[in-house]
Order: sequence, then structure tokens, then C-alpha cells
Amino acid sequence: MPLVSMRQVLDEAAKGGYGVGAFNVNNMEQIQAIFEAARETKSPVIVQASRGARSYTNDRFLYHLMIAATEVYPEIPVVLHQDHGNGPATCKSAIDMGFTSVMMDGSLMEDGKTPASFEYNVKVTREVVEMAHDRGVTVEGELGCLGGIEDGHGADVDALAHLTDPDQAVEFVERTGIDALAVAIGTSHGAYKFSKKPTGEVLVMERIEQIHKNLPSTHLVMHGSSSVPQDLQDVINKYGGKMKQTYGVPVEEIQRGIKHGVRKINVDTDNRMAMTGAIRKILTEHPDAFDPRDYMKPAREAMKQLVKQRMIEFGQAGHAGDYEPIPLAEMARRYKESLVTA
Ligand SMILES: [Zn+2]
Repeated sequence: MPLVSMRQVLDEAAKGGYGVGAFNVNNMEQIQAIFEAARETKSPVIVQASRGARSYTNDRFLYHLMIAATEVYPEIPVVLHQDHGNGPATCKSAIDMGFTSVMMDGSLMEDGKTPASFEYNVKVTREVVEMAHDRGVTVEGELGCLGGIEDGHGADVDALAHLTDPDQAVEFVERTGIDALAVAIGTSHGAYKFSKKPTGEVLVMERIEQIHKNLPSTHLVMHGSSSVPQDLQDVINKYGGKMKQTYGVPVEEIQRGIKHGVRKINVDTDNRMAMTGAIRKILTEHPDAFDPRDYMKPAREAMKQLVKQRMIEFGQAGHAGDYEPIPLAEMARRYKESLVTA
């Protein structure tokens, strides 16, 4: 199956009332883990790459690994998404390379750190929407700022100081024409989100309900949505790691979001932890091992199990065969004739 637009995958998710995990990758084993999990659960897939991942893989390796995946797993609808594009030029280079979806994060300036004004955000996001829709490619925008820095991207702000304003969200979607909106509800990127199990005061799920009420047909995106499971922290620390105790976003809160318009859920940290825990365990128990496959295989397996679990929990399992891919050229025609609306 060719790569498909994220708009189609999220429209189908909205119809079916489920969410779709968006998993970050930067190497072959992570891509294989995601696709094996998708095959076993019959799930559509969103694979995303940050700017850091694109530079780590020199773009070309990432692109060809993804093409290999579509050949090996022809039954899986898959989106290749640019995570946190920092400007129209980054989004354009992704589209030119074959990404079928881009995030224009105009909530921050081009340095990827400084919170931007609303007008700046509208301007750059609209510019990307025009360029992307012309080629049938999906656009995700962001309003509000998450806390935490990951892969060199993010504002190191108090996560509660920049929550998405539900009324401003309406204006933002109307003026930009985006397909999906990333919302800030108190979460942060990376492993260190909350110092105790989050309550409604720090993880403001109510915001999602308000935004969804205002924008019932806009697909909402939760960033920073790793759950940072205790058992993965324990494995890492048991085998020589030094992670401080931390709390992520509980899966039941994500499921509550899915009931209120959340269609894309970004997960990265949990997968990193699953792989690292597996590698630490193997190398501690077998100090004689030196073939990279001895630890990459269990690492890949650990990530596969975690991705599988999330696919089932988010509800995307079983939906891979629901639809035929709409070619990007046809998506472009639909945007042009306003058959697809924000
Ligand atoms: Zn993010």
C-alpha cells in the first residue's frame, strides 16, 4: 500500500470513534517494531520523524526504510508525518521527500524554543496549509505550548501557563484551514511530565472537552502522551539506569480524550524506555555479549509489545482493512473543490 494522507486515517478514526498512536522513529528496528505490532493487531499506522530524526538518518535512510516497510507490510495503511516542523521550509522539504503529513508548529518561533505570537502562528501555518493541501498532504497545527524539551525542540515553559484557549482555537482553525490541532493541556515532552500521578489540576482534560465542543469536526492531537510506565522505569533502574521517579499521562486519560475528539496520540518516550530497559537487562545478564543483534532483537521485541498494547488501548486495532487509500492527487482535488473542510 502506498503511504496515505493523515487526513484520511484520522477521518476514518473519527468515524469509528477511535484514536491512532503516532510513534516516533529514527532507525530500522523501531520501524520494524511498529509494523510488526500493526500487522498483529491489524492497525493503521502513523510513523513520525522529528527534525532530529531526519538529520540522524540523513533523510534518505529514513525514506527508504519507510518504502521498505510499505513493501513488506502491504496491508497496513501508513502515514509518514513530520513531527514539529519549525517553519515552512522544513515542511516543504518533508513534502518534497514524500511525507504525507506535516506538523507546522507555529506556537514556537523558528528556533523551536521561543513562544510565538498568535498572528505569527496563523501566518506560517496558513502558508504551509496552502502549500501542503495543493499536493494532498495533511497539516497539523499547534495552539498553546507544551512544557519540556525533546530532540532540541520545545519551550521550557510552565506547562500550565500556555494552555490552549478554546475560543482562540476556533479562530485559529478557521483562519488556517488545518486538518488537525495539537492542544496544550498541561503535558510536557520527554519523560519528566508530572512529579506525582496527575490530577485534573495539572492534566487539564476538561480543556479537550471544551475545544471539542467548539470544534466538533477538527481532529485533536495529544502531544507528550507517553504514560512512562512504572515497570519500565523499574527495569531501567534495576539494571544500572538512573531515572528519577516520574509520572506520565495515564492511558485512561488518553481514552477519555479519545471520547472527546482526540484522534492522534504522540508516543515516543515509552518506546525509548522499552528499548533501553531491554538492552540494559541483556547486557547486564550477559556481559559476554557483543553482537549488536543480541540486544537489538530483544529491544525491538520490547518496543513491539508496547506499541501493540497502545494500539489496542487506543482502539485502532482491527481497522487496517477498513478502507482503500485515497491517492494524494485525489486529496488535492478535494481540498481544491472544498470537499474537505477544517
Ligand atoms: Zn510534540
